[in-house]
Amino acid sequence: MKFTEPVLDNLISLISRLPGLGPKSARRIALHLFKNKENLMKPLADTLGIAHEKILRCKICGAIKSVDANCTISKCEYIDNSYDQLCIVENIADMWAMEATNIYKGHYHILGGTLSALNGSDPESLLIGSLIDRVKKNNVKEVIIATSATIEGQTTAHYINDSLKNLNIKITKLAHGLPVGSEIEYLDDGTLFSAFKYRNSIGEK
Ligand SMILES: [Zn+2]
Repeated sequence: MKFTEPVLDNLISLISRLPGLGPKSARRIALHLFKNKENLMKPLADTLGIAHEKILRCKICGAIKSVDANCTISKCEYIDNSYDQLCIVENIADMWAMEATNIYKGHYHILGGTLSALNGSDPESLLIGSLIDRVKKNNVKEVIIATSATIEGQTTAHYINDSLKNLNIKITKLAHGLPVGSEIEYLDDGTLFSAFKYRNSIGEK
């Protein structure tokens, strides 16, 4: 369904491009914004403008940073830059998920995607050169590759492993196995295969 007002149509079509929103939700949001023109639409428009102007992707670690300040999220520009571990993730949401586990509180390198000819993600856009620099410059002892268990994620992990293998550091990758709380009979073949392949010993021997 099209409205007759081109500006509104354009707004709806832009909103529907946001993740998880279809045309129906986009229409609802656009009308809600219109209904709250002064107390929501205006501050949202202003904030979008400021965000567009003021935040960018850090060229060193891939985190989002302010144009006016040093990168703090993954601490890539700290002066005392010597750290043992560096965890590589595909995107910022993955970093947040890792942080939420409290198991790792170190430095991150955010690729911003996976290697893919389809969407134009090449080693340069994934900051692989910067990753090699960071590992060398900061005396990193272990790189933890936390890319997804998808074909693209694993291809990217292999590429990173190849790029770092001459640096004499430990390179680890997240284990693929049984999800916590899962029952064997309900697992898909790939998960079960990988859980079996990467099985661990329990107890002493
Ligand atoms: Zn950074």
